[in-house]
This record gives sequence, C-alpha cells and structure tokens, in this order.
Amino acid sequence: MPDTTQFRTTTRHMLKESKTYASQTLMGGLSGFESPIGLDRRDRIEALKTGDIGFVHSWDINTSVDGPGTRMTVFMSGCPLRCQYCQNPDTWKMRDGQPVYLDAMIKKVERYADLFKATHGGITFSGGESMMQPAFVSRVFRAAKEMGVHTCLDTSGFLNKNYTDEMIDDIDLCLLDVKSGDEETYHKVTGGLLQPTIDFGHRLAKAGKKIWVRFVLVPGLTSSEENVDNVAKICASFGDALEHVDVLGFHQLGRPKWHELRIPYPLEDQKGPSAALKKRVVEQFESYGLTVY
Ligand code: SF4
Repeated sequence: MPDTTQFRTTTRHMLKESKTYASQTLMGGLSGFESPIGLDRRDRIEALKTGDIGFVHSWDINTSVDGPGTRMTVFMSGCPLRCQYCQNPDTWKMRDGQPVYLDAMIKKVERYADLFKATHGGITFSGGESMMQPAFVSRVFRAAKEMGVHTCLDTSGFLNKNYTDEMIDDIDLCLLDVKSGDEETYHKVTGGLLQPTIDFGHRLAKAGKKIWVRFVLVPGLTSSEENVDNVAKICASFGDALEHVDVLGFHQLGRPKWHELRIPYPLEDQKGPSAALKKRVVEQFESYGLTVY
C-alpha cells in the first residue's frame, strides 16, 4: 500500500478529520497534468479569462469526502476570504498554483469517468475558492455533464456574481459553507460579506440543485446561540434543496501551515468544541427540522 498521506498536500477548506481523510485518499498532487509553462503573462491572463487554463493547487481521488461516491477533488488556487480557521492558507494566492490546461483536466475526468459512474461519484471543485476561476471550472463541469459524470462545487458562495445561471445548470450538488449567520460575525470570521452566500444558495435552490451546508463550530467565535439560530434559518430558507447540514468542530490541524507561511494565526490557542457544545448546536439545527451530520 502506498503511503496515502503524502498525496493530499491540502485538505478541503472545511474541516475534516485528517486521518480518516488520508485513509480514503488514493492519489493526487499535480501528477499527470501538462503545465503551460511557455505562456507569457498576457497570454496566461487571457487563457484564465476564457478558462483555457486554470490555476490548480492539487487534486486527489477520494471516497465519500467531498460529495457522494468516489470523486476527483480539484483544489483551485486563490481565495478572496481570509477565514480565521482556514486550514489551507497556502491556497490563498492564485499565482502560487500550477497552471493546468483545460484539455488536460477534461482528459483526467474522462479517464476516471467509468469509476465515477460505477460508484455514483464524480468531480468536485474545491479550493481555495472554486468560484475564483469560473470559466475553467464551468467548462470542466460542462464536459463532465456531457460524459454523464456527477458534478459538485465546494464553495463559500462569496463570489456569487462570478457564476451565471448557465454555469449553475451544470452543478449537481453544492457544498456550501455558511460560515456565520449575521454580517458582523461573518465579517469577523472571514473578512467578507455573508449576503452573497445566501443569494447563491437561493439561486441553487431555484435551479433545483442539491445543497449540503457546512458550518464550522468554533467556541466563542461562531458558537453563540444567536449565531447558530441565524445559520439554521438561512439553511431552512433553502427548502428542499438542502439535503443536510454538516457541523464541523474546529481543530488545529491547519496551524503548522500558518506558521510555515509566517502569517499571524488568530486562533493560536483556540480549542475545539466540547461534546456538550456540539450536541447543543446539532439540536439547535434539528429544531429547525434540518438533518444534521
Ligand atoms: S474560504 Fe478561503 S480563507 Fe476561508 S477556509 Fe476556505 S480557503 Fe480558507
């Protein structure tokens, strides 16, 4: 058996038990992609706009982590948010990613298409922020849909306006991070605005797409009863589109990356939630009639 832990150079941007994840992860990195090194800066910008290339941090094949079945998860580089609990600050800058040709990515999906179909899996774009590179992501999704492959977008929804209705058509499932329930807390946690997340969720629901919400529970930061109530109300407003809510307890697995990059880490001494707190929060979501994992 290969040592699978070496392949996942980044975990998805929501929190996950890394040991479980590693055991479910088969391969990845950036192997097998031809990188358009020869392009000059202007050509790269143009190719980025059209989606002929995308800046990719890494990719892997995993099971039941970033959506149903066996999936290829592609971590795009670049993120406009600065979440205090980010596990992957190494994905923040798009230029730190590797430029990858659209055709190379589509070929990779093709290669695994039968496996995806047999396991009811598919392709997931994560990050960083998957909506930073809408042309590339949506063109891969279009190609995947033509192959009959399931598509999943893992996003904060913050860049709602980057995504057209036509692009939404090719999303089967969205893993939507609702990081807080009011603008003030959301801004404190991420540096950004909450409303685009809500708007994106409503657009997905209107288009008949499925949503799994992810909420990171950080004691003292996102855990107040009021904040959790407000997140639950947002989730409930997605109606039948919402399949379930994942309540993810904060942990410190991302801390070494902040240190490595010499970025001041605001949650240096932060503890994860107690079992009692997690129970209270799960029950709060359930009181709104929501299914919680
Ligand atoms: S949205 Fe960006 S900053 Fe926030 S957790 Fe994800 S990658 Fe990190």
